[in-house]
Amino acid sequence: MAPNLSLLLGAFLLLLVAVQSKNHTKPPEKGFKFLQHLQGCHKGQTVKGLHELKRYLEKFGYLNYGTTNNHHHSKSTATISNLNHANDDMFDDILESAVRSYQSYYHLKVTGSLDSETVQQMILPRCGVADVVNNATNMKHPRLFNMVAQYSFFPGKPRWPASKTRLTYSFQSSAQVVGLQELRSVCSRAFKKWQDVSRFTFVEAPQGADGDIVIGFHRGNHGDGYPFDGPGRTFAHAFAPTRGWFHYDADENWSSNPNMNQVDLESLAVHEIGHVLGLGHSEDLNAIMYAYFSYGTIKRDLNANDIEGIRVLYSS
Ligand code: ZN
Ligand code: CA
Ligand code: ZN
Repeated sequence: MAPNLSLLLGAFLLLLVAVQSKNHTKPPEKGFKFLQHLQGCHKGQTVKGLHELKRYLEKFGYLNYGTTNNHHHSKSTATISNLNHANDDMFDDILESAVRSYQSYYHLKVTGSLDSETVQQMILPRCGVADVVNNATNMKHPRLFNMVAQYSFFPGKPRWPASKTRLTYSFQSSAQVVGLQELRSVCSRAFKKWQDVSRFTFVEAPQGADGDIVIGFHRGNHGDGYPFDGPGRTFAHAFAPTRGWFHYDADENWSSNPNMNQVDLESLAVHEIGHVLGLGHSEDLNAIMYAYFSYGTIKRDLNANDIEGIRVLYSS
């Protein structure tokens, strides 16, 4: 009797430890929290870690020391010293103007400094595709009721050729995260959203064949020049037409029915398919093509802004 009881007690204790350690597991760094300590930074300062803000703004399309250089022919000495700040922790003019355009894109107060509102936006997890900033293809037509169309296209407006209305898709992953059947049904629902509002039909490619669109899970550096960044930060990315690549970051906690610590497979699928078809990010918080996502949030429906974007891109 006694050995059985101690065995039972042992098992119970083990269970208790398992539950405890589960509750006490440190949650993954969810967004770009490493930017938090830079709050309050402004032009003229040198603060340790500011180069990370530069990398962030570069990655998402707001900062380019090389290109900015070309726009300042008259200030060659200033340019040389600015160039020197590309990798250091100096808050220079170029960084200030990048912060300004970021603030303007996300409808924040344009201060040029790293105020709390700006940091709170920046640290959220997001799609890995850069925003299209100050680009001629960024459509801002006045519309009814003084609304602004806030969708965007990739530079040069790449799109699938007019003859190509039937797109095939296939699955090819370098990391096993979600079962093929689950992924199939998630993606089929996501494609349907775009099929309903565009000239496209989407069908799965025959077994073993590459589709026009190839969907997969990958982690870290996976050979396309855009390495993923582990848990948090960026969730997924996709390429402009007609590349057809749509990648999920295998290091995220994915689910088709997410809890507060998981990322919704279908919400990201609808978003990344938008990129595959040629849409850039939208400034409209409620658009599927808005760049930032939250854990546990389900956002699977196109809004008027997304639909107008795809229609304008493929009209004529
Ligand atoms: Zn995106
Ligand atoms: Ca990530
Ligand atoms: Zn990739």
